[in-house]
Amino acid sequence: MSRHSQTSTVRHYIEGQWSDADGSDFAELTNPATGEVSGLLQLGTQSDVDRAVEAAQRAFISYSSTSLDERVDLLRAVIAEIEKRGDDLAEAVTTDMGMPIELSKLVIGSAVQSFQVLVDELPSYPFEKRHGDYLVVREPIGVAALIPPWNYPSRQIAGKVAPAIAVGCTAVLKPAELAAHSGAVFAEIFHGAGVPAGVVNVVNGFGSVVGSALSRHNHIDVVSFTGSTAVGVQVQRDAADTVKRVSQELGGKSAHIVLPDADFEAAVKTSVDGVMRNSGQTCYAPTRTIIPRAERDRFVELVRKAVDAITVGAPSSPVAMGPVASEKQWQTVQRYIETGIREGATLVVGGTGRPEGLPDRGWFVRPTVFADVSNDMTIAREEIFGPVMSIIGYDTIEEAIDIANDTPYGLAAFVDGADVEKAKQVARRIRAGQVSVNTSALNPNAPFGGYKRSGNGRAWGIWAIEEFLETKALVGAV
Ligand code: NAD
Repeated sequence: MSRHSQTSTVRHYIEGQWSDADGSDFAELTNPATGEVSGLLQLGTQSDVDRAVEAAQRAFISYSSTSLDERVDLLRAVIAEIEKRGDDLAEAVTTDMGMPIELSKLVIGSAVQSFQVLVDELPSYPFEKRHGDYLVVREPIGVAALIPPWNYPSRQIAGKVAPAIAVGCTAVLKPAELAAHSGAVFAEIFHGAGVPAGVVNVVNGFGSVVGSALSRHNHIDVVSFTGSTAVGVQVQRDAADTVKRVSQELGGKSAHIVLPDADFEAAVKTSVDGVMRNSGQTCYAPTRTIIPRAERDRFVELVRKAVDAITVGAPSSPVAMGPVASEKQWQTVQRYIETGIREGATLVVGGTGRPEGLPDRGWFVRPTVFADVSNDMTIAREEIFGPVMSIIGYDTIEEAIDIANDTPYGLAAFVDGADVEKAKQVARRIRAGQVSVNTSALNPNAPFGGYKRSGNGRAWGIWAIEEFLETKALVGAV
């Protein structure tokens, strides 16, 4: 039977042991689909962070000198354990953030993939390379602080732990408060897989306390942060005094350019699925759909039909959309929908309040689409992180590209067009880290990260290990 229960107390995991809860403060965890208390979260302090960092430093001495084969075996063991505990993990994700259970199960596959791609590609990575008369050696940077967001907890945690331990770093993970049950199941997975004590430690608590203590810590060598741009800036500030590396995967306001010759049915699916999946809580969601003005009515009608078909309800049932993750998130989304209406966008479908027919509890939002949005409206400029889509018209391709790039963000983009060469040319001109051409999918093995205020550094695939490597030059008698 699973040691972790969804109503349990979520404790720290330090040096291979669950820490004693005596003397700690706790916060209640709430299930966003029901409003019921789902557990208690142990709130970490500076001294918990110190203990975890010391454990990681001790473990680094031996773990950093393990062989590549040993680490690949460890990654395989973690994969086996994730697969064994897949149902527990999916349930934890659904309890944490209200993700429909079928989607939670699907995302486990991408958590596995974060480890599998390294099993496949690590052996051919050039950890040592001769350049003429000198040698370049890539080494683990040291102790990593891993600070993920809550939106796809299984994928986000796996995506940070996998590259860190693959190259020989040790780590202190601080799961997002809203994804605490998922973090707890992961601690059990690492333990069950035989990850050596101290290699991955988990300290729970508030970002402003535990996260900040990690960012400022003298003995943390890199912070791998994924979250909002505002908090990313704070992490960078906190890390500045100790000159540590900060890798940032931040917010987005991704564009989807629909070229005049595009398959509109497919393009509508890319936009609607991309924005509405996970209740809009996807960093790369194509929230600005940029369409030929002449085709406005046809496109909007297809979107309306697609959104009308979305079922919203209890995440334990087979629905397309559950609640958003918290009351705070619900209030934020409501404010943005009100702002869209006030600023003069045309409300096509959805709106403020709860969807009809649902009980008056849980943080459910109406999937909402605005048309006739101009790119200077608040809903086109700011990341909403909810199921709200903006349709913006263009007259020329140049104008479409200008609109796509007229944003402080640059995380992802989508281009649809029957003339693939033309679509590729457009894709090349968009300033974003990953651009999908004629597909709604991103490639989880390709580098992913932000231009501009969407961050710096790259995650996903083999590319993610760069954040955890130092570069040493060996010169002279080498
Ligand atoms: P958030 O910025 O509020 O929190 C992210 C993490 O930082 C959490 O674990 C939180 O506890 C922690 N944190 C909070 N304050 C901190 C501080 N002062 N110091 C250190 N850590 C602190 O983000 P969120 O609400 O969890 O996630 C949503 C945001 O994440 C959105 O902006 C979304 O676009 C972004 N996101 C980006 C990517 C990406 O790959 N670029 C992926 C997913 C989510």
